[in-house]
Amino acid sequence: MQQAAGRVWLFFLDLIFPIECLGCGRAGSWLCENCFKAISLKPKQYCLRCKRENDFGEFCPACGVDYSLDGMWIASLYENELIGRAIKSLKYHFVQAVAEDLGKLLIALADSLLSQARMLKPGIKRGVGWNEFDRIKNLPAVILNFKESLVVPVPLAKKRWRWRGFNQAEILGKIFAAQYGLEMNARDLIRIKHKKAQAKLDEASRQENIKKCFAWRGENLRGRNVILIDDVVTTGATLNECAKILKAGGAGTVWGLVVAKG
Ligand SMILES: [Zn+2]
Ligand SMILES: [Zn+2]
Repeated sequence: MQQAAGRVWLFFLDLIFPIECLGCGRAGSWLCENCFKAISLKPKQYCLRCKRENDFGEFCPACGVDYSLDGMWIASLYENELIGRAIKSLKYHFVQAVAEDLGKLLIALADSLLSQARMLKPGIKRGVGWNEFDRIKNLPAVILNFKESLVVPVPLAKKRWRWRGFNQAEILGKIFAAQYGLEMNARDLIRIKHKKAQAKLDEASRQENIKKCFAWRGENLRGRNVILIDDVVTTGATLNECAKILKAGGAGTVWGLVVAKG
């Protein structure tokens, strides 16, 4: 009942807000081609903790010890006001088309990471300097075995799902997995208790709040690499907790992939 009411409300929202570009107002799409191009300039990846730039968004060895997550891929710059608006409309209106555009950002980033890896790999045969060799050695397993990786969207709390009627992370995951023919599992990583809204808490309370919120009820993942998808990362507490649970469930490495950093 609650869900149906939500849908009706969302239907009216769509009537009140006709389809026009969130960036420039041009009619016909939520993100016109020009505005999409402007936000899809791929930002350099970096260590989520110390913000040092690197090739693949991995944690530095010293920073990584406190994380279950192996690294983080962030597809766009959140400072871009348009991205913020697009993500908000994805959450609060039922706008599948926005999800598709944001999904394209995830794909653009993965394409660039994969081609970067392809450029590094042939170097092994040519004979490369030690510096280069170090970079090749550090190519993440999830990129080397990209096609084998499993896509898992961060689950939504049940209460929110009922209100919203969909999980935006799952829509993004579906678009991403379809593009590369990857398997997705949106069923077995579940939320087991409703947490307080993370946004209102400071860093320490966030870590505490998120503990024991998730469970993996699927089969053992047998060393499989997981790409964990969400719309936004803030401190990484949620993604990290999911990574911990997935690794306890047998995952090899776990990488976060999000549209933007909040
Ligand atoms: Zn536009
Ligand atoms: Zn670092």
